Amino acid sequence: MVEGIPCKVNAIFTDYDGTISPVDVSREESRVFPEVEPILEEISKYIPIAIVTTKSYAFIKPRTEKFAHAWACTNGIEIVLRDGRRFVPCEVYEKERYLKEILNLARELFGNSVFIEEKWVGTTLAGICIDWRLQGHVDKEKLSKVIEEARKRGLYIIEYVGHPFIDIFSININKGHAVDLLKDLLKVSEPIMYLGDSENDNPAFEKVEVSVAVIHDKNRNSNLKAKYRVEQKDLPKLLQKVLESVKK
Ligand SMILES: [Mg+2]
Repeated sequence: MVEGIPCKVNAIFTDYDGTISPVDVSREESRVFPEVEPILEEISKYIPIAIVTTKSYAFIKPRTEKFAHAWACTNGIEIVLRDGRRFVPCEVYEKERYLKEILNLARELFGNSVFIEEKWVGTTLAGICIDWRLQGHVDKEKLSKVIEEARKRGLYIIEYVGHPFIDIFSININKGHAVDLLKDLLKVSEPIMYLGDSENDNPAFEKVEVSVAVIHDKNRNSNLKAKYRVEQKDLPKLLQKVLESVKK
């Protein structure tokens, strides 16, 4: 239901994976939904759009540069503006060696049985993602071992209900923190719309006036703290309404 969602907003902040792109395709094939991309492009001429994602800048930028004014990447660890300004907390550099230990452990335990993505902030490793979406299953015992060792080193782990991957970051910055920084950097005032599809979007949902959970088959039972819900198939309709509202 798109009715009842306030569409006159001053900015859109949005998650990428599962929200404006399909969650169950390989990384290489991952693109913004073709029926969503042109509407976002049009909206971006009137209000700022920022991406708030666990993905790295190298991954996300080419897929969203037609419409994004800013990116909060690697769960908000790296914020990049369209003009090239970058913001990274220095703790990331201090914690890198612990994360590298975990990366080595994961490679040793899993070999090629899962996909392990390295998330780089410049030349510094800031996150890893252990992803079994293509294999369909993961060795739970090995995964628990990796998580336990990561915890011992004070790293930040995100597990998802219904998503076939986990993320491990060097520092505990969440998407809510990223939303606060983006508001400041882009100088946008309320109301802001935030679109997301998993529990790691909850801290961001809580920071905005118009929080919208995008619902698909994989997150129907997730505990999402958004004020509004929209079926993924209705997302173009919602964005079209936003476009009409911001044009006025
Ligand atoms: Mg997502």
